[in-house]
Amino acid sequence: MLKGQVVKLDRGYPLVRTEDGRLVRCEHATALVKGEQMRAVIGDWVEAVVPDEHDKGIIEAILPRTREFVRKDPTERALPQVLAANFDRVLVAQPLSDMNFKRLERELVLAFETGAEVGVVLTKADLAESDEALCAVREQVRDLAGPAAQTVVVSAEDPASVEAVRELVPPGTTAVFIGKSGVGKSSLVNLLVGNEVQETAAVREGDGKGRHTTVSREMISIPGGGCVVDMPGVRGLGLWDADAGIGAAFPDVEEFAEQCRFRDCRHENEPGCAVRAAVESGDLSEKRLASYRALRHETVEVKERREEARRMRGEKASTTRGQGVGKPRKGKKR
Ligand code: GDP
Ligand code: ZN
Repeated sequence: MLKGQVVKLDRGYPLVRTEDGRLVRCEHATALVKGEQMRAVIGDWVEAVVPDEHDKGIIEAILPRTREFVRKDPTERALPQVLAANFDRVLVAQPLSDMNFKRLERELVLAFETGAEVGVVLTKADLAESDEALCAVREQVRDLAGPAAQTVVVSAEDPASVEAVRELVPPGTTAVFIGKSGVGKSSLVNLLVGNEVQETAAVREGDGKGRHTTVSREMISIPGGGCVVDMPGVRGLGLWDADAGIGAAFPDVEEFAEQCRFRDCRHENEPGCAVRAAVESGDLSEKRLASYRALRHETVEVKERREEARRMRGEKASTTRGQGVGKPRKGKKR
């Protein structure tokens, strides 16, 4: 029996780095993937055996996760999908001169939901129109991400700028990069490592296979730091169980909500709604409230679908899979 960590996934075959540093290509034991459909993801610690006559190791157990990054499976109505496990920080990347704040709110909710540290990396700083424009965006991002998240600004044109990112990934820790394709994640990873370990868009396009070829997820160790996991090809970011994440990403709204007369206030037309009052007095922006409500609504919907699917399967209790491990949760038996 060997113990190791999944450092790469190619077509569902985990590459496991053993405790003594060997790399072993593995597959899952049938018993593991049958009922629960539990599959190892990048970052998972696993136990495997390598039978004599076999060219691959067989993963027999996935050890409990301290943390997982979960989205709603884009191909299924009511299933969670775990994209990475056992990391310490989530770094959300967006290009400074082409920010999508709505997407950023969603990315922050997913990042905070993991219970990990959260940082925002503003990329392509060289494309900013001016220093003023750069500062304005940084301020806006700070307002959105809150004091709990660090914000760093980088440019591939200025290799020294990535040192601030390296500091967010100290030795012995792992950071997961999320962000739309094209924001510059691979370029950043390459700068951190000091050479081309990740194919950037320019390379991917040049090889004739097009942008949407499956790029493998990989855990890469960076000199003078810990490990980073680039998650290429993650397009949809549907919320799964995100109540805690929404709370952490919208502390301003939640603080007002505590003053609402009704505990279950939906902040619509209820009397004594402190959230609507905050919007009217200008303390909270209407747009921000709209985002908050849309994200809340999305989690309620996915919860309803999940319940419905469970009823159809004739199940009662939920499994803990994909429900945000490693952090205390109120009112939930596990
Ligand atoms: P990924 O899909 O997030 O991994 O993004 P890539 O690293 O592949 O970068 C997408 C494109 O943006 C490539 O053409 C890069 O050369 C370009 N790019 C990445 N970082 C920077 C930067 O700091 N400044 C500028 N001007 N272009 C960048
Ligand atoms: Zn209210």
